[in-house]
Amino acid sequence: MSSRSTTVVGGGISGIACARALVDAGRAVRVLDRGRRVGGRMASRTLHGRPVDLGASYFTVPDGSPFAAVVTDWQRRGLARPWTDTFAVAGPDGVTGTRPGPLRWGAPAGLRSLVVDLSTGLDVVAQRAVEAVRLDDAGRPTVDGEAVDAVVLALPDPQAQRLLAPEVAADLALEPASWQPVLAVALGFRQRVWPVDLHGVFVHDSPVLDWVADDGSRRGDGAPVLVAHTTAAFAGQHLADPDGAVPEVVAAVRRLLRTGPAPDWAHVHRWSYAKPGSPRSRDFGLTGRIGVCGDGWSAPSRVASAWRSGDALGRQLA
Ligand SMILES: Cc1cc2nc3c(=O)[nH]c(=O)nc-3n(C[C@H](O)[C@H](O)[C@H](O)COP(=O)(O)OP(=O)(O)OC[C@H]3O[C@@H](n4cnc5c(N)ncnc54)[C@H](O)[C@@H]3O)c2cc1C
Repeated sequence: MSSRSTTVVGGGISGIACARALVDAGRAVRVLDRGRRVGGRMASRTLHGRPVDLGASYFTVPDGSPFAAVVTDWQRRGLARPWTDTFAVAGPDGVTGTRPGPLRWGAPAGLRSLVVDLSTGLDVVAQRAVEAVRLDDAGRPTVDGEAVDAVVLALPDPQAQRLLAPEVAADLALEPASWQPVLAVALGFRQRVWPVDLHGVFVHDSPVLDWVADDGSRRGDGAPVLVAHTTAAFAGQHLADPDGAVPEVVAAVRRLLRTGPAPDWAHVHRWSYAKPGSPRSRDFGLTGRIGVCGDGWSAPSRVASAWRSGDALGRQLA
């Protein structure tokens, strides 16, 4: 490669992990993200005076994964905290039991803070929406007309496809159609009226709810805040007017957890591309000097997979 830099489009955890791997190998890298801050779907937003996780609910660390070293460092510095290995399970009318699983991790300052930490020292340009990634006549990649050594698209497939010429998207075997939406609805209550050891609830057979997280429990401050994630089908019906979905979500949560009084406030976030329907087992896609990474790779779709995918692509390009 020449001295020109690699451009990573997307500052979610996969893009930042990719940039980190390239920089660690001595490469010049620039990260462009259309958002005001990095983090992507590890999204935390300050609502009523405290950060609330509106995207990923938690993360796990697969056995033997190099991601473990990153997490251990976060824990040592107080940025990440072990949350729980047990969640409730429920039908639409109430909790029916509990289900143990792997240890889930949260972040006291919200999951976004972890991606911000990982991006420390990187050249990140925020509020920069890339419109086109192409190949010039010499076959070199360009980003909005500027020639670069290599480009990484660390994006959900539908967002990556929009930037690429159809033949390049086909080479990369993008699968935009399989991506599913979710509405995340944060609900603030006057006080906690659900069990202290609830942590979170997997909801089965509900047309509205898929999962409800206790945000105060995962963040460790005990705040009476829940975040409900809807089913993909319900989200699909409300993408044009997510605020209009809030009353149905509130009713479903009150019925599920018997929370009594209505919440004091609600905030909805629309994820048009929350998760891939069929993530690939390969770690990344690469054609020439255009690569794609993210949670559509390194199945299953998780924070740890997105990190692994970006890290693997960064090492390959380096
Ligand atoms: C509702 C929800 C719940 C989830 N729950 C969990 C969970 O509990 N556990 C778990 O492990 N995972 C969970 N996930 C999945 C997890 O959030 C993702 O796997 C991970 O965050 C994906 O990271 P990424 O870097 O691949 O993509 P993203 O985080 O989506 O990053 C893509 C970035 O690209 C930027 N971008 C997009 N288009 C452009 C453009 N044209 N120009 C410049 N920048 C652009 C975006 O702003 C974004 O920052 C959840 C996701 C959602 C949405």
